[in-house]
Amino acid sequence: MQSYSLLAPGKINLYLEIIGDRPDGFHELVMILQSIELADRIDIKASGTQKITIYCDHPQVPLDETNLAYKAALLMCEVFPDVYANYGGIDLRITKNLPVAAGLAGGSADAAAVLVGVNLMWNLGLTQLELQELAAKLGSDIPFCLNGGTVIATGRGEKLDEIGCLDNLWVVLAKSKTTGVSTPWAYQTYRQQYSDSYITDPDGFRHRRDRVSTGALVQAIAAKDSSKIGGLLYNDLEKVVLPNYPQVEQLKTEFSSIETLGTMMSGSGPTVFALFETKEQADEVAKQVKISIGDPDVEFWVTKLASNGIQVI
Ligand code: ATP
Repeated sequence: MQSYSLLAPGKINLYLEIIGDRPDGFHELVMILQSIELADRIDIKASGTQKITIYCDHPQVPLDETNLAYKAALLMCEVFPDVYANYGGIDLRITKNLPVAAGLAGGSADAAAVLVGVNLMWNLGLTQLELQELAAKLGSDIPFCLNGGTVIATGRGEKLDEIGCLDNLWVVLAKSKTTGVSTPWAYQTYRQQYSDSYITDPDGFRHRRDRVSTGALVQAIAAKDSSKIGGLLYNDLEKVVLPNYPQVEQLKTEFSSIETLGTMMSGSGPTVFALFETKEQADEVAKQVKISIGDPDVEFWVTKLASNGIQVI
């Protein structure tokens, strides 16, 4: 087949702890990542030209080689030059449903979808492991986006261990349209303010990872104990983003003042999410917070937690 359509689900962070600096200059992290049903759509086809072309009508999505989906396509062309020569260039149409620069890994999900789509379109027969290795070359969140689910991610975020399945829960996402937080800014600011507390030795890294993987949140996830899960959400980056982005802090305060299972900023923000047992509760709280915030700039999404990554449709 010469064309494929794929869904690229976003993610939220149920847990994000920054442990220290790595020799490669990235942070050593322990995260619990969770897929959501809200997804971009990627349509991919062989163009017969010698170019990679991106089509997307979202004003914040770049159409050039800085687009992560473009980088994923380029990587496939570089790794498989003969197949590329045979099939020709790639047209990528991105229908953006995930908010951009929101802490939901939208660009990473698009890139993961391109890897899966090109693998199918070019009949490469790559295994999941081979796709994971290519994904890790492109960015830290991209390996997770391939398979999705509920996962502990360590290292830069590319080492993955599945820990359960929470696709019975609902989530409200809220984000101001005009606020975007740069992920590099959030991590650099954290380093400036908190590097004194960084762990430096590999044993220390291992100890922290073990503490999370045998800890209360992972146990609550395994037991599907939703109220416990909600009370154990954690994100180190809130310490730098909330004081600098009053809109994010306000959303967090609003969600904290009403009944939810738990609320937290996702990744480097600015999206704030809250968890619920049912869609009705999620819809009701989204409505309430929309009224109490009273700011048309703030957008809300109600979606479900998901147990899958990239899907061919
Ligand atoms: P993460 O949670 O992985 O940090 P994010 O959700 O915060 O990601 P993205 O939506 O991936 O952030 O966008 C971050 C920046 O990347 C945007 O400002 C945009 O310019 C650029 N970008 C590159 N490729 C894409 C893409 N395919 N979709 C959206 N943004 C992209």
